[in-house]
Amino acid sequence: MPQITLLSQETIDKIAAGEVVERPSSVVKELVENAIDARATAVTVEIKEGGTTFVRITDNGCGIEREQVPLAFLRHSTSKIKSVEDLLCIHSLGFRGEALSSIAAVSQVELITKTYSDLTGTRYVIEGSREMSNDEIGAPDGTTFIVRNLFYNTPARKKFLKTAQTEGNYISDLIERLALSHPDVSFKFISNGQTKMHTSGNSNEKDLIYHIYGRDITAALLPVCAETEYFSVKGFVGKPMISRGNRSYESYFINGRYIKSALLSKAVEEAYKGFMMQHQYPFCVLYFTMDTELLDVNVHPTKMELRFSNNEEVYRKLYQTIRDVLTHKEFIPAVPVEE
Ligand code: ADP
Ligand code: MG
Repeated sequence: MPQITLLSQETIDKIAAGEVVERPSSVVKELVENAIDARATAVTVEIKEGGTTFVRITDNGCGIEREQVPLAFLRHSTSKIKSVEDLLCIHSLGFRGEALSSIAAVSQVELITKTYSDLTGTRYVIEGSREMSNDEIGAPDGTTFIVRNLFYNTPARKKFLKTAQTEGNYISDLIERLALSHPDVSFKFISNGQTKMHTSGNSNEKDLIYHIYGRDITAALLPVCAETEYFSVKGFVGKPMISRGNRSYESYFINGRYIKSALLSKAVEEAYKGFMMQHQYPFCVLYFTMDTELLDVNVHPTKMELRFSNNEEVYRKLYQTIRDVLTHKEFIPAVPVEE
């Protein structure tokens, strides 16, 4: 008969880590979101070899108190919620307390952190969930995480990574979205020693779009600004001529979180029907503000998906909003495209 045994903590940690950390870009996403939650105004992301061997994220946020540092690496430890009721009104990007423990289970992590009020900081090293050192050191205010050799102890995972070039591209794409999600934060991205992006953090969405997508796109934007009973939305959609063959030009942010939503994409794409060829997708950068009680962000460990409590109304209102923008009298296409 097969024997039932409880898995070792190490195995449990590695399995759980797989849900949060799929590739280097997942590490970047989690650590940058932590930086934003720590109210950083400047975040630097540095990678080598597509993030497979080296990721360093530096922020000027609130830092972690010395005695709290080991706690932060425990599974389900978080400073962001206290009870299940808090899930109804999530205002932070994180809340599951899984990222640091997951990352530390499958890589070699070095953390340097100092709070504003402490005189000295902490350097903490943890590898494969094992604490290697914990020292008091001089450090600037804020937090730096260095993540080396992702999946060094989980070869099966490592095998599924793509080339350094491709992994680096995922990260670069993600950082663009994270920068767009928080126009008030200055982001710097360095890959293999070269600065690839540096945003000002001046809170201007259009400047950011210019910085990331260039002049031609910026010249073809239509502003969106609407208030409905379910959400308010602002941002930009592109004129139909700047369409693309995939969804990489669509960005949706809800309450400061970059998300992917089939529902929102469908509503926007439907609104373009008649303006755009089939199998083309529009450009959009849309910022939604929504009552947290109408949202469930706790659908998946990566928190990229979410549920609305009222799908149909959200769909309808967004469709109508975008349709109104596209059919505005100052913007009637000379010849609508045939389906
Ligand atoms: P979560 O973000 O869901 O709370 P994490 O595992 O990502 O869980 O982080 C655990 C805790 O560590 C956070 O709740 C926060 O208190 C602290 N922390 C992590 N990163 C930072 C950071 N860059 N600056 C300040 N505190 C941080
Ligand atoms: Mg987090």
